[in-house]
Amino acid sequence: MQLQSQQIEVVNKTEISQNLIKVEQQQTQKIILTNNQELMPQQNQLIKSELKPIGLLNLSLEKCINLQTIKSWIEIYLGLEVQILNLQLALYYERNNFYIYDIDNDQTYKLEKDDKDIINVFSIFKVMTQVKPKNISSFIAIVDQDIYDPYQPQANILGRAGNQRVCVVQVQTEVNDFYSTIVHELLHTLGFGHCQYSNCLMYANISTSMQLCEKHLQKLSHIKEIEELKRYRALLHISKQIGFQKEFQALEQIIKKVETQANSSMQMI
Ligand SMILES: [Zn+2]
Ligand SMILES: [Zn+2]
Repeated sequence: MQLQSQQIEVVNKTEISQNLIKVEQQQTQKIILTNNQELMPQQNQLIKSELKPIGLLNLSLEKCINLQTIKSWIEIYLGLEVQILNLQLALYYERNNFYIYDIDNDQTYKLEKDDKDIINVFSIFKVMTQVKPKNISSFIAIVDQDIYDPYQPQANILGRAGNQRVCVVQVQTEVNDFYSTIVHELLHTLGFGHCQYSNCLMYANISTSMQLCEKHLQKLSHIKEIEELKRYRALLHISKQIGFQKEFQALEQIIKKVETQANSSMQMI
C-alpha cells in the first residue's frame, strides 16, 4: 500500500543509534540476503481447507507496539484467528547496517538497505520465510523502520506483501493508515488483488474508507463465513477503542442499513 503524500518518518536516525539492541558478540556467520526475482508478488487465493491462524510478529526496534489491539483488530476485521508469535527475533542496527538476529537458531541475517537507511522490504520477507512456523498460513511483521519496494523504489510504502503469504507493515502515527494497511496487506497474503474503487480498502493507494467493497466482502466470506451485523458492530466498537474518528459515522450508517435489510427480510417470511 502506498501513501501519496510525503510519508511521516516515525523514528529519526539519531534515535536509532540510541536504541540499539545489544546483541552479544557472535561467532556465527552473517548471512547476506540478496533480492530475488522468485519473490515477485503473486498469490493464489487461499482456500478454506488451507486456513490456519495468522502469525503476528513485532519486529520493531522500539518494541512499544500494542500487539493485543492489532490482534483484535485483525480478528474482527477478517474473522480469522491471530497468533502472536513468540519467535525470538531482534532487529538491530550496527555500524550502518540493519540485522535480524534469530536468537533461537543463533543466526544473523544482514538486511539490504539504501544509503538513506531505508530497508529493502524483500530482505525482511526472506528472513520471514526462513522462520515462518508451519502452523500459520499468513505471516505479518510490524516494523518501525522505513521500508522500500525494489520494484517501485520511488514510492513511499506503508506496507508490502510478498510471496509465501508474508507481509510487512510499517508503524504509522496516523492510526487509520496503520490499521488499514495491516488488513490490506494481510488480504494480499490471502490472495486478494487490488480494487478499482477508491472507497474500498483494497484500493492500491490509501482508500477513502476503511471498509471493503461488496465484491471483496463476498470474497472474504468464501474463506470464512461472516455474520455481517455482528462483524460491523464489533468493528464499530474497536474503531472507537482505537480512535478511527472518520469511521464511526460510516459504520453506524452501515449497521442501520443492514438492520433495516434484516428486518424487511424477516417481514417477508
Ligand atoms: Zn496493495
Ligand atoms: Zn474492492
